[in-house]
Amino acid sequence: MTFLLLIFQGDEVPPPFMSFDATGFPPELLREVHNAGFSSPTPIQAQSWPIALQSRDIVAIAKTGSGKTLGYLLPGFIHLKRCRNDPRLGPTVLVLSPTRELATQIQDEAVKFGKSSRISCTCLYGGAPKGPQLKDIDRGVDIVVATPGRLNDILEMRRISLNQVSYLVLDEADRMLDMGFEPQIRKIVKEVPARRQTLMYTATWPREVRKIAADLLVNPVQVNIGNVDE
Ligand code: ADP
Ligand code: MG
Repeated sequence: MTFLLLIFQGDEVPPPFMSFDATGFPPELLREVHNAGFSSPTPIQAQSWPIALQSRDIVAIAKTGSGKTLGYLLPGFIHLKRCRNDPRLGPTVLVLSPTRELATQIQDEAVKFGKSSRISCTCLYGGAPKGPQLKDIDRGVDIVVATPGRLNDILEMRRISLNQVSYLVLDEADRMLDMGFEPQIRKIVKEVPARRQTLMYTATWPREVRKIAADLLVNPVQVNIGNVDE
């Protein structure tokens, strides 16, 4: 992995965490990271964790394989601990992802790293029966990872409430827009309270992505790792 360039834009950006110990993550979480065999945060994690932990909005532009998933999930776990919402009233953390495959991978990471913190997560995607997904929602989950199409269907059925969501992640935003999910994303975000933290991850930074970032994020810190394709 090579990281050619690292740029910040934003007010008073905190210094990066150079080690896992510097994060102040609770011991059960540090144990999971240690058990996974990771020796230090990836550049995107080192840079974005301190910003995310200050509850600030982030736009991160970084290539695949840079460790973005834990980049937003672990601060999401800390956010959950701070909120202490009742998951039966709806999720607190919502992650939107373009495909079933990617959404499932995110859920796997959330389950693996969240287990010892007793964090629950479910995944909502199309091409599969709704029944089991609705059952998980009814049982109550802290984190929902969803593709925009299926989540929108479930919202239209009024079978999920997003009014407890206060940590919203748009993963692979450029890909979601390429796949034509913009109308669904905008509808979903209308159901999420405005008082929230929003984190957007994208591999490229074209005009459409800038536009949706400008509409959905508030005073974000921009983190670029590697070359930025326009
Ligand atoms: P991205 O979403 O940026 O494409 P992922 O979040 O899927 O990348 O991470 C790629 C791989 O790197 C995954 O297998 C993940 O478990 C691993 N990984 C994440 N963080 C670290 C770390 N700090 N050290 C080593 N490997 C890591
Ligand atoms: Mg990813």
